[in-house]
Amino acid sequence: MAPLLSVSGLHTTFRTDDGPVGAVDGVSLSVDAGKVLGVVGESGCGKSATSLSIMGLLPRTATVEGSIRLGDRELVGMPDDQLRALRGAEMAMIFQDPMTSLDPVIRVGAQLEEAVRIHRDVPKQEAREMAMKGLASVGIPSPEERLRSYPFEMSGGMRQRVMIAMALINRPRLLIADEPTTALDVTTQAQILDLIRDLRTEVDAAVLLITHDLGVVAEMCDEVAVMYAGRIVERASVDDLFARPQHPYTWGLLTSLPGRHRAGERLHQIPGTPPSLLNPPPGCRFAPRCDFVMDSCRADPAPALSTHDGTAVACHLDAATRAREGARAARDDAP
Ligand code: SF4
Repeated sequence: MAPLLSVSGLHTTFRTDDGPVGAVDGVSLSVDAGKVLGVVGESGCGKSATSLSIMGLLPRTATVEGSIRLGDRELVGMPDDQLRALRGAEMAMIFQDPMTSLDPVIRVGAQLEEAVRIHRDVPKQEAREMAMKGLASVGIPSPEERLRSYPFEMSGGMRQRVMIAMALINRPRLLIADEPTTALDVTTQAQILDLIRDLRTEVDAAVLLITHDLGVVAEMCDEVAVMYAGRIVERASVDDLFARPQHPYTWGLLTSLPGRHRAGERLHQIPGTPPSLLNPPPGCRFAPRCDFVMDSCRADPAPALSTHDGTAVACHLDAATRAREGARAARDDAP
């Protein structure tokens, strides 16, 4: 069966005063119905630009090339009104900051009802009941009363739940969750992740989970794509990624996990910073930070993703070194 979401050769470029910035450079990924794909990487690696490209929510300064298919429909080049009809109905997104999708001065009930009625021809009373059920389903106490609240009257965790209720109210087939729990306490975080799991189970939704938190990845995902400087550098099942990581950047992410260090021991950090996407280095973009860099890594062309033992990796290192160093990075406790 074809994947529900299929992205291939995605290039997203922003026009800036300093020149074009290639935020996403040839990304290909797919997610099946009922599965969760995690996309991990540092800030600015292109995770959010990828998700906003899929949703068609980029500013006018952005150009999107390549293919993004939702089921049998091509989203790249789709007219705005058709994309709007899909957003909120068949695909929805939740953000780190709930105020990205909530209007602070419109009552929560009115916003939820509108989210229903934009996509469905239902009477107002039915939309109100759906709104109430939506709030109840995300664990908001006294949902009927809460329909009359304004977002600015609610706590951060509560607003996050309302945003999730809004994203899920039409039972989308694709949910993109961009750092959905980063700003939340541990208990609320666990509850929000449960809600995402429920959606996946109840409506067989495909979930694209954007996060920098490998703990969340281990808990939630079936597969993982590791992004660096606009490209996917490793794509693997979640078990393989933690047991047999193959890319030096992934090794750096794993060995930087706080749980991997003993008390008093300094946290390992990947040296340096990601390159500017205005003028990225030729060849492997991780080369300036990589402990294993060779002359061939800096040359053009850049390493392409190629598959070894079920994992796709973009690295010039030989298989034996990748196996040895990957085992070293995975040796300690996985999250
Ligand atoms: Fe390091 Fe070379 Fe592999 Fe890039 S291609 S990650 S520089 S070894």
